[in-house]
Amino acid sequence: MKMKKNYRIAVLPGDGIGPEIMEEAVKVLSLVAEREGVTFDYKYGRIGGIAIDTDGTPLPAETIAISKEADAVMLGAVGGPKWDQNPGHLRPEAGLLGIRKELGLFANIRPATMHSSMVEASSLKPEVVSGVDLIVVRELTGGIYFGEKKRYDGPNGEVAEDQCIYHEAEVERIVRVAFDVARKRQKRLVSVDKANVLESSRLWRKVTERVAADYPDVELSHMLVDACAMQLVRAPKQFDVIVTENMFGDILSDQAAMLTGSIGMLASASLAEGSFGLYEPVHGSAPDIAGQGIANPLATILSAAMMLRLSFGMDKAADDVERAVWSVLEAGHRTGDIAADRSKAIGTKEMGRLVCEAL
Ligand code: ATP
Ligand code: MG
Repeated sequence: MKMKKNYRIAVLPGDGIGPEIMEEAVKVLSLVAEREGVTFDYKYGRIGGIAIDTDGTPLPAETIAISKEADAVMLGAVGGPKWDQNPGHLRPEAGLLGIRKELGLFANIRPATMHSSMVEASSLKPEVVSGVDLIVVRELTGGIYFGEKKRYDGPNGEVAEDQCIYHEAEVERIVRVAFDVARKRQKRLVSVDKANVLESSRLWRKVTERVAADYPDVELSHMLVDACAMQLVRAPKQFDVIVTENMFGDILSDQAAMLTGSIGMLASASLAEGSFGLYEPVHGSAPDIAGQGIANPLATILSAAMMLRLSFGMDKAADDVERAVWSVLEAGHRTGDIAADRSKAIGTKEMGRLVCEAL
């Protein structure tokens, strides 16, 4: 990917802690731009509850336009008790589902990295989780989520159907993303399916084998989803990149994330065709702590690093941001969610400042 001089970033802070954590991520990005001699053009848009209040819809047309014109989107979080009783189309979460669809995002990428200085905070065995550094690549547009759904009366009571469909082209594009990701890492890809039972998995495996011919430098293996679930808790260090279909990915990405502990540290990317992507923390809007200045901004800052790497091809800058985060943690700084001693916890702004300083 060739680096450009100027990138347009749509910034959608959203609700709850969204604006607080986004502010720190933007500070880090601005520092990166200065160091790298590029410019980032930020266009702010409303999404979620705040957009319901001001625009009467969780996803205003203007927000879609800003996002489509951008090179990438940074998203905070949406939702909160204020809108929980709203009808479906006026729920903040409808804005999130809407924008993912509008932008054609088909690849969800969720890293789970256990840094050495965080091992002690884990509830799992140190010898199992220390050194975990893996990425789950999940297909987002196909499978049982989007197949035909039916409910009808049969001779022995009600019947329910969920169809699971995968097209060759859908499998190919997600598997290519996964191979590309693996190529930049340890070059080991595990494709997860249920090929002993499901026809869609047998197609998945066939396509994966075919695509693998274009990536002779990446070592491909296949694993059944039940075996993968077991291996993830037994010996997670064996994994580098995992690629899988929509529902298996939903489950395995949450499982993998919890190996590394805090929700306040988990980043994610959702990619479209080309280099466009949407980047957001895995956690929600955390209404219980919103406005208090205590939210952990690291998941959003690490999501920004993913944007630098995956949408802008700024691999070195991405590494630098990640290293800055790890060095701040190594120095013992913690927000409340990851602090062993909460009385010593620092706030959102201080954490952002320390990352900038380390950078
Ligand atoms: P959603 O329904 O939007 O997925 P949720 O309600 O299940 O989200 P979160 O909003 O992620 O969950 O919050 C879960 C818990 O984690 C809350 O107690 C919240 O305060 C805490 N939390 C989430 N994100 C952060 C963060 N960045 N920093 C500190 N605590 C956080
Ligand atoms: Mg919630």
